[in-house]
Amino acid sequence: MLSKSQFIRGLQCHKSLWLLKHRPELRDQPDAAQQALFDTGHTVGDLACQLFPGGIEIEFDTQNFDGMVEQTRQLIADGVEVIYEAAFKQNGIFAMADILVKNGDGWDVYEVKASTGVKDYHLKDAAVQWYSLSEVLTLGRIHIVHVNNQYLRQGELDIQRLFTIEDITEDVLTLVEDVHEYQAGMEAMLKADEPQMLIGSHCDDPHSCDFKSHCWRDVPDVSVFNLYRMNSAKKFDLYHRGIVQYADIPPTESLSPVQRIQVETASTRQPLIQPHIIQDFMADLVYPLYFFDFETFMEAIPRFDGQKPYMQMPFQYSLHILHESGELEHKEYLGDEHSDPRPGLVVQMLNDLGEQGSIIAFNQSFEISRIRELAKQFPQHADALEALISRFKDLIVPFRNLGYYHPDFNGSFSIKSVLPAMFPNDPELDYKQLEIQNGGMAMDTFANLHRLKDPNQRDSIRQALLAYCRLDTLAMVRIYQSLKQVS
Ligand code: SF4
Repeated sequence: MLSKSQFIRGLQCHKSLWLLKHRPELRDQPDAAQQALFDTGHTVGDLACQLFPGGIEIEFDTQNFDGMVEQTRQLIADGVEVIYEAAFKQNGIFAMADILVKNGDGWDVYEVKASTGVKDYHLKDAAVQWYSLSEVLTLGRIHIVHVNNQYLRQGELDIQRLFTIEDITEDVLTLVEDVHEYQAGMEAMLKADEPQMLIGSHCDDPHSCDFKSHCWRDVPDVSVFNLYRMNSAKKFDLYHRGIVQYADIPPTESLSPVQRIQVETASTRQPLIQPHIIQDFMADLVYPLYFFDFETFMEAIPRFDGQKPYMQMPFQYSLHILHESGELEHKEYLGDEHSDPRPGLVVQMLNDLGEQGSIIAFNQSFEISRIRELAKQFPQHADALEALISRFKDLIVPFRNLGYYHPDFNGSFSIKSVLPAMFPNDPELDYKQLEIQNGGMAMDTFANLHRLKDPNQRDSIRQALLAYCRLDTLAMVRIYQSLKQVS
């Protein structure tokens, strides 16, 4: 017996399904980001039930799938017309339908997804479901219910507009006929020895596989998979030709200039410094220098007026101001977790950023995009916000242009790679010393902060958020000063 999710896993990779059934202890535990995705899925699923009110939910019980199937059967026999999480065990597959709705003599199925559109694997998922359910029910239509990212909340949450329902019946019917064959293949595979499957792009498509620590254990930390902007097919081609470490790469292999520098500096262990490239960048800067960084959060279900699903909501910034005299000032903003952080942020940010001087970000497109969005959302401040954009300078540029390359960048110019390579033993600049260590953690932490009841706990988390964002801009100051010294 396979569950629907196991079947989908088997479609991605037979070995993944085999390991799950025979060696589950090798599976990676979900990280905080994956857990946040699961939680979002549950929240969206619960809310979507309101599209078909008055139904009865089958309680999920990992210890008693047969009981869930029996409850479903009983509800159908009793004439219940809307069932949430209806469970079926048929055709060798255990499948659950998020929402099952009686329609005339048949039943319509609604599968709820937290995504903003229908993905290819949703169709396969629905085909497995149809294959199983159609043995016991007369099915009408099958749909995907997904989040509508064009919905702009104003006032009460409008469930009808928050979701989009797409009928996928025709697509599903073309896929159903293959399900039996796939299932037979998986069942035979599970009775045999572990399949010999090489690692490949399927390890992350459509989902990042949770056996990667096991299957990728022989790939070293520095390998062809770190080559800068090399497409995935070429990386796997090198790997499967036995070219794993940089030293294995033949001189005839075609590499981009950055990739070539990566390979060369990995063997010499010496940074590459080209002062004229750094000087070109420095020549454009105007004091005072405003080192600036936003943090944002996203939610599937908008909480505030003027918010759309999955909209990037700036809630915090840090700003270090470096004056020509060498004086360094720090300013910051962290919105209240219970109200829309944007109005207060816009006012203070415009005040803090003054009217002249370069605004320095690391990978500025993120900050500029947020400012453009804020200009649309707050038209009364649009001119002042738009005026900030021409002042931006991107501190990643001298790195991307190879003004400075350190072998420990390992093919990444993100600040999280650049900083420890340039300042390896500086505890003041070590993200690992912080409670919140990356933007994803900051995002999830703030998005959930309003749920915490204990004000002391909330305050301590707010301090951790401030410390994280402050380091982002302090890091930029130190990187700038270090570049200036070597240029
Ligand atoms: S890591 Fe890749 S090869 Fe290994 S089980 Fe997962 S998908 Fe298959």
